[in-house]
Amino acid sequence: GKQVALKKYVTGSPKESDLQIITSSIKLKVPEGTKDAVLVKNLYLSCDPYMRWKMSKSDSFPAFELGKAITGNGVVKVLDSTHPNYQKGDLAWGITGWEEYSLIVSPVLIKLDKSDLPLSYYTGILGMPGMTAYAGFYELCSPKKGEYVYVSAASGAVGQLVGQFAKISGCYVVGSAGSKDKVDLLKNKFRFDEAFNYKEEPDLNAALKRYFPEGIDIYYENVGGKMLDAVLLNMRVRGRIAVCGMISQYNLEKPEGVHNLTSTIGKRLRMEGFLAGDFYHLYPKFVEMITPHLKEGKIVYVEDVAEGLENGPASLIGLFSGQNIGKKLVAVARD
Ligand code: NDP
Repeated sequence: GKQVALKKYVTGSPKESDLQIITSSIKLKVPEGTKDAVLVKNLYLSCDPYMRWKMSKSDSFPAFELGKAITGNGVVKVLDSTHPNYQKGDLAWGITGWEEYSLIVSPVLIKLDKSDLPLSYYTGILGMPGMTAYAGFYELCSPKKGEYVYVSAASGAVGQLVGQFAKISGCYVVGSAGSKDKVDLLKNKFRFDEAFNYKEEPDLNAALKRYFPEGIDIYYENVGGKMLDAVLLNMRVRGRIAVCGMISQYNLEKPEGVHNLTSTIGKRLRMEGFLAGDFYHLYPKFVEMITPHLKEGKIVYVEDVAEGLENGPASLIGLFSGQNIGKKLVAVARD
């Protein structure tokens, strides 16, 4: 089957040519004598910004192995199993390979019930990004009715949900994104109160003062750098910042400095980083909360689907230039 592999370790911005499509032969059965393993068909693969970290060698994150299928979250169908928890025909989501078929020993996959919601949603709203939005917004920020919420990278996999959660919670929410189409989506589809294109704002501090004359109670941080610096000047007393991601920094050899941290003192700010994986025990509660909202159309989800594994490299790299509109994923096979 086809696989997406890393060709060489990346410095600076990743390019499509840093990845390559290779083929390898795989038997569609778990090899004799291999215990606790599954052989899966990969249906949908999730493009996630953190995968950039694994494209370089570092002390903090194990890198992808060169010349082998890279790994990431996906939706899979079990074709064969020697693991007691998984049977042939099961559908599940979790960490798998960027390839047509994967042999996974000691899988950590969450099984799915077939429902009338799209299977691809388990790469996004019903998967890791959904949990990220839920945990970061509700668990870290404890939103209260009437509070002022700001979300950056607001039209993406995580951001579009945070904005909708803020509305459900009775907050006032403003989002920023990098194009006119994305800003329109924020206002018209996701019902943010206001939205702006940060690329057209020469002075982010002035822009935030315009959208939040009374300041920001909750900042859901996805981009870091200059945006964070401007936000720090506009937070209200006892504001909360959930540090979900800082995508503007991932391709820099030397991260930008943050200058306005002194604001955290007088304003008694709380700034907290987190990983979605720390909150997976809340997954059943999250699914129970989100499913009726989705079915009633109170929460909507926009996906950006690339067809076929060959489009995997461009899809993944495209996250870092804002090519994606909504949750980016690769459809490898539909069933
Ligand atoms: P998105 O779907 O939002 O895609 C990434 C978006 O980031 C792009 O579309 C682009 O949108 C924006 N972007 C890219 N480069 C820059 C830049 N230099 N400056 C500003 N914006 C930029 O991705 P996700 O929703 O999956 O992820 C959003 C954030 O959440 C990331 O920082 C990610 O690392 C983090 N994350 C954290 C997790 C955790 O457990 N803590 C789990 C999942 C995600 P635009 O056109 O608007 O610029």
